Amino acid sequence: MASVSSTVNSWSENLNTPQLVRDLGLQDHYPHKLLLVSMREVSWGKLYDCKPTRPEDLPWRFLQRILSANSLARNPEWPPAQSLEDKKDDVEDFNDFFEVKGPGDSGINPLDIIAAIFLCADHSLQQELMLKMSLCQLALPFLLPEGHSYPRDKVREPMEGPGVTLLLWAMRPIVKMWCPQSPTGNSPVVEMPIVTATVPTVSFLRLGRCTVSKSKLLNLTLSQSQLQQNIFLHSGMECGNVPRRISDGMAEISWYLPSGKSNTDIFPEAAAFINLRGDAETYQGHTRFLAKVSAALFIFIDVIGEKEREFLTSLAQSPAKLFLIVNTYISEQHITPGQVKKLFKDLKLQPQQCIVRTNVNEAKLVEKLRFQIKQVILMRDRDQSFLNLEQMGDIARESGIQVDEHQPEIQRAKDLTKILGSLDPADITGYKKRVLPFHGEPWQGLTKVEKEKSRMKLRGDRTTEKYNHELDQDKKIIREAQLRQSLSEEMQIFIDHLTCPGGDDRAISLQWLKLMLDSKSREIMAGLRRDYKELSKDSKQKVKELKDMDQKMTDSSLGLEHFMRELGQVYELSVTQHNIKQQTQIHPHVLQLPGVAAELLLDGFPLELIDGDVSNVPVSWITAVLEAVAEKVARASRVFVLTVIGVQSTGKSTLLNTMFCLRFAVSSGRCTRGAYMQLMKVTGSLAEVLGCDFILVIDTEGLRAPELATLTDSYEHDNELATFVVGLSNITLVNIGMENIAEMKDILQIVVHSLLRMKLTGKRPKCIFVHQNVGDVSAHDHNLRGRQKLLEQLDKMTEAAAKLEKVEGVTFRDVMDYDADKDNWYIPGLWQGTPPMAAVNTGYSEHVFQLKKSLIQCLLKGKLEQGAFTIPDFTKWMTGLWEQVKHENCIFSFQNSLVAEAYNQLSVKYKDWEWELRKFTHSWGNEAENRVNNASGDLNLLLQTLEHEIRMEINKREGETLDKLKALFESGADNVQLMEKYREEFKLSISSLCRRLQDDSMQRCKDAVNRRVGLQEVDASWNKSHKKIEQQVKELLLKCKGANQVLGDEELQTAFGKMWQDTLSQLDYQPCRERNIELEIEKLLRENTATQGRVINEMLKRKPLCKQGSQCFQIEGKHINTTWMRRAKTVSMSANQSDVIQAAIITQSLELECHQWISDITKMDMDYDNRYCIELLNIIQEKINNISHPNFTMSEEFRAEFKLHLCGYAVPRFQDMQTRFIQKHDPRQRLENMKGQYFDLFRDIYSEQDENQRQAERFAQSCFLPALRDATLKALSVNIVDDMKQNDRESKYSLRNNFTVALLVHLKQRDTFDDYHRYITDLENLAKDWLHHQVIDHCKTQRDGESTFTRLAKGILTQITGKAKEIVEDAVMHNFAGNVQSFLDMFVEKLKTRISMPKDEMKLVLFHSDGDGKKWAEAVLPSIEEVEQRLLSEVTGWDVQAKIEELSIKPRDELFKGLFNCTKKCPFCGVFCDSETPVHSQHSCKQHRPEGLNGNRWIDSERLVTDVSTPSVTGKGSFTNQRLKSQRLVTDVCAALVAGNASFSNNDTNGECKPYKDYQTVNDYYKSWIIQREISAQAASYWKKVFYTYNKQFAGKYGVKPAVIDEAWNIDWDVVRGDLNKTYNTNIQSW
Ligand SMILES: [Zn+2]
Ligand SMILES: [Zn+2]
Repeated sequence: MASVSSTVNSWSENLNTPQLVRDLGLQDHYPHKLLLVSMREVSWGKLYDCKPTRPEDLPWRFLQRILSANSLARNPEWPPAQSLEDKKDDVEDFNDFFEVKGPGDSGINPLDIIAAIFLCADHSLQQELMLKMSLCQLALPFLLPEGHSYPRDKVREPMEGPGVTLLLWAMRPIVKMWCPQSPTGNSPVVEMPIVTATVPTVSFLRLGRCTVSKSKLLNLTLSQSQLQQNIFLHSGMECGNVPRRISDGMAEISWYLPSGKSNTDIFPEAAAFINLRGDAETYQGHTRFLAKVSAALFIFIDVIGEKEREFLTSLAQSPAKLFLIVNTYISEQHITPGQVKKLFKDLKLQPQQCIVRTNVNEAKLVEKLRFQIKQVILMRDRDQSFLNLEQMGDIARESGIQVDEHQPEIQRAKDLTKILGSLDPADITGYKKRVLPFHGEPWQGLTKVEKEKSRMKLRGDRTTEKYNHELDQDKKIIREAQLRQSLSEEMQIFIDHLTCPGGDDRAISLQWLKLMLDSKSREIMAGLRRDYKELSKDSKQKVKELKDMDQKMTDSSLGLEHFMRELGQVYELSVTQHNIKQQTQIHPHVLQLPGVAAELLLDGFPLELIDGDVSNVPVSWITAVLEAVAEKVARASRVFVLTVIGVQSTGKSTLLNTMFCLRFAVSSGRCTRGAYMQLMKVTGSLAEVLGCDFILVIDTEGLRAPELATLTDSYEHDNELATFVVGLSNITLVNIGMENIAEMKDILQIVVHSLLRMKLTGKRPKCIFVHQNVGDVSAHDHNLRGRQKLLEQLDKMTEAAAKLEKVEGVTFRDVMDYDADKDNWYIPGLWQGTPPMAAVNTGYSEHVFQLKKSLIQCLLKGKLEQGAFTIPDFTKWMTGLWEQVKHENCIFSFQNSLVAEAYNQLSVKYKDWEWELRKFTHSWGNEAENRVNNASGDLNLLLQTLEHEIRMEINKREGETLDKLKALFESGADNVQLMEKYREEFKLSISSLCRRLQDDSMQRCKDAVNRRVGLQEVDASWNKSHKKIEQQVKELLLKCKGANQVLGDEELQTAFGKMWQDTLSQLDYQPCRERNIELEIEKLLRENTATQGRVINEMLKRKPLCKQGSQCFQIEGKHINTTWMRRAKTVSMSANQSDVIQAAIITQSLELECHQWISDITKMDMDYDNRYCIELLNIIQEKINNISHPNFTMSEEFRAEFKLHLCGYAVPRFQDMQTRFIQKHDPRQRLENMKGQYFDLFRDIYSEQDENQRQAERFAQSCFLPALRDATLKALSVNIVDDMKQNDRESKYSLRNNFTVALLVHLKQRDTFDDYHRYITDLENLAKDWLHHQVIDHCKTQRDGESTFTRLAKGILTQITGKAKEIVEDAVMHNFAGNVQSFLDMFVEKLKTRISMPKDEMKLVLFHSDGDGKKWAEAVLPSIEEVEQRLLSEVTGWDVQAKIEELSIKPRDELFKGLFNCTKKCPFCGVFCDSETPVHSQHSCKQHRPEGLNGNRWIDSERLVTDVSTPSVTGKGSFTNQRLKSQRLVTDVCAALVAGNASFSNNDTNGECKPYKDYQTVNDYYKSWIIQREISAQAASYWKKVFYTYNKQFAGKYGVKPAVIDEAWNIDWDVVRGDLNKTYNTNIQSW
């Protein structure tokens, strides 16, 4: 079964690549090209534990199993037992036994597989393999043959051929722990790297063939009797008997390590055992080397010939003590006792050095061996001569054996360790201070300042501003001190080394450094740990000492992570500088460091995420590193995050390392806290299916070691750490040591709380509970009760956490999709047997493997609701999250930029849909109106039809839009999962919008119908008159034509005039009734204000109603009711001036709004109707009710007077409206208006001018043209808005936030107090004005010599005329058969949705309508073109602004509607709710303003008169600090106030003092507002600047003293602009 490639390549590579390596399919990896990094990749293949089906599967099977620490890894399970069984039945042919088989068909010796893999593995993989094999208590390859098979019997010298390699470097990371027995009984635990352990070495070899398995004997010798461990592979094991092809000559090594218990230990001291494979005589070089380095050689020998004798003689010279294990009764060879005696004499051996195994059972033989070995181990006098592996390496070199560690690249890499040259283990603290000065104290200091800046716990009496400034100064001092410090020489070398180009041996150097550091710190930490343990036994009394000891341990620990931390800090410090020159001042390559760290992360080095010692994240550093990672692997790469969390030393890291072959530190003897991350690549189709390219694994360290719980801030640290990592993760593994569920309680509490917070954010992490150390195989079934109990506990915790977050009725299952059955894993204990001789339990590794599979499945399942982040998005999420954790914010919400971004994106989509719907209803409404106007049949029937139509249309569109929303959520678009909690709001908003639009459209139809119904009476009357006139005109025509002579123009005119006069005077027509509007309105007003009749009377006595509204409304003291508190304190004072001013501001804007409404109504072509007046009164009432001011309400008197005032304003306008209507619609008037046209018609017919031509012109000019003009204007509004939105790159007309920024920029450009003040007090009108100007500006914008307005108008025009022309041309082409009347009917019918034909003029055209329709059509075509040309040129001349103001639908109102979905204001500062959807459960806004801008001020009390000027009263909760209006304006923002201890009092609280904290209890309105509690919240710099600049004006406006404002608020406008951009994610380049 040799692979094809091996035959093909046999020419060129046969000499180089061992055949076995080819047979195993490893040729591409030979030599040393198999990388550890690739072993860590996650793919489908690695998730399935399939039995091998071909020889090529064998190495991968071994690797996969050994890397997950499976002790059974050596069992090849090949050839498959299945195939042997299959053959049993059908084979009767003996040939089968002799069949030529492919390589490996009959099995491959596992040792060969191991040798081949080691030949292919790179250094890191070799190290990893050694570590895992040693964990499994498998013998390690010590001397590795180079892989070529040699004739078995050929004696080989070491120098011959490439020989063997001693694997020293590969074993370096192995650390063993044991406890030698000592006579005193309390010998210390020894923990050290095995390569430096000086222990006796015992080597086992055989000379010639041997009938006993020496490996099996060795295993028996080293194992406890009840538990035979297969340390060395022996022939009795699976495939152990298959002839070895390349592993002869391999020497394996293993150690016996005592546990310190004399009753169970086989040997009292540690010892190494080496087992040489193959015949020692063949591998004489190996044997001689072993003889040099061993304390004893145990040689199995069955035959003693001359050759053997000679060889043994040469060995006898070596320092190793020789033992012979002989079999004396082999019949053919005859080893006789005499031979042995002679040999022993020759070799000068003692009789006890001979072990005869003839007729001795295994147990006895083992006993003998153990006895002798013990003697060797206890050779006190030879103690000095024991060698460690390092020393053996040196001897190997002398013996011509290669040593991996002596290779130049490894030796070169060792150079870096010179930076530890000055390290004195006794003074690690000093070394750290000198060499690594940037982290540690300064970093701790910075962290403190940063956190205090967020939390303001020690602010005391200082203002936020001032305190902040102080903290900034503190920070600056630390940074400056750091900048003065230069890099230590060691760090310089370290950075040089890392950043040096090439960097091939970077990984090896760091490994060197790590190993050296680990072993140094192990030395010192061992003692400290012992002391600490001693002390913690009695922790209650010695908290202080314990804490000191803990600090000492922290100070004394030194590992590679400290150097990496230092790198991070050096980087962080550098990037605080302003330019590259300064940034690279510390080290020229400092800016390359993130790139280097990124490479290391990708190579599998862990990177510290949280420095647990100070509990802070070096955000700039981590961000830069992740950015660099993203750059290296493609920015679109996505990442899932997996975290493990649990009490310290409960095997979390071991779990991760076993599961994913990672290298998180496992009790390296140091005491490092924090969280580390490692990246694993996901490859192949799994990456596609999962939708992610990497899995980021986070391991937490040092979380709440029980003895540390007593230390002050450890609880806080743990909280922060857990909240943070849970928030980052897609899956969190909660590691629970089964014995100690109580200990876990705190951690569970933290986890549950974090999950709840995440759920509130919209992210839904998954949590899996791992119960370790569970003995029973059926643990899962037996622990049903345990799981129930756990769920009960989790529910309780959730309830408690929910209470803190002010959410009710939440269970754990609400927080997380929890399946007690699947989300609990029971993993058996790690060890089989007792350490140090224990091996990893196979059950452990198998369970962990299953867990890994299920984790991937879990990610797969959760993919839809919680897709993977891209790396840059993950970075953003992380930064935002940490910011929240620093603030101790309870609910993470909009502050998170990623959520905000996702919300924005969704809003943009929503706004698009909303506008589409609006646009549709507008054009539909236009059409409907036209249809109503053109209709000649039953209007009610038409109304029903329209009603049905719009309902169907809107329903259809609502469904489509909801589908789009659904599709968006299911598309897996970026971060859409974060929006899950808004999904319902958007859904409801769409539906509510559709209902509203449907209602509006219906109203429009009803209005149109009503208008026509209202005209029916006059129209009927007019029709009658018109018929009469028509009749008369016809008669006159006949008469004139009948006359003998041709009449001249003058005569015709006279005749016509007389006829006209006579007819009109005979007409019995109903003139339009003129109503006394003033009287009717007065009546309605009196009804409306019944209780205030006296006030109305008095007012009307002074002025008639129609004069009442001529001036602005003047507000006076009597118009407001001040609050209870206000009155109590100011009884004798006249009404507070500032309240009146405030009220005036409010009423002024109210008045404006009503004026606007009246003007909109009166512009309509309608007769006056009382319902307009009733509506006006209702509107006023509602607006007054909506006035909400803390200090006053509006009086009844005001209501009456204000209504009277506005009715007075309305009267003359309604009168105008009536007059205009009568003018237009009075039948007589209408006839009069048309007199000239009738005469023209009359004259034309008389003089028999080209009738068609004239008539067609008349139609075009007097019917089509005005209708076209109207239609154009009607459609313009929507087209203008649409055009503006299409060209709105900044989304300022769609998104509320962007609009806000644009408006703020506009205000800044004008920079006047009045504008700012209006923004604060009257945003709605200001916004409408501004939008109006924007509309005009946009319309005036010139392009290609044409304004936008003209372009849009022309577009509509040509579209309609195009359609008209098409209809006419079509009629001509198809030889229209009817007369003029039917042609016009057809024409109007086809255009009925687009234009409304004027009725009066149409009559005129139809005066003479029985001509030929087709001819008429031919005649009308040029006229339509003429009309088109005329209007086109007319449009060009339109006054843009005037026309826009004429439009019945105001573009600015359309824009406004889309932007101000919510007009609720913050009860304190008056900022509008900035939700983008009309339906939302609670109001909120991104940033609140300083309350003083809204007129809020501090109250003074008698005791505090002098102090009150300082806002110190905010900080502490003295009850005299009630907030009421009186003295100085407040500079604080709502968010800070609701987090602090201040109180407020206003009308809503009935003048009582309410703590700001409890604002939501005031009433439902307050409750509907979410104000983020953030003690350190500051006003936006924009408003700081405005407040600072116009403090006096604001104070003057509100009639109080200016606020005390810190000089720091005088911010440079450029800084303000930067802040605006940051807050709103915009990009304003200049003011
Ligand atoms: Zn506010
Ligand atoms: Zn709202």
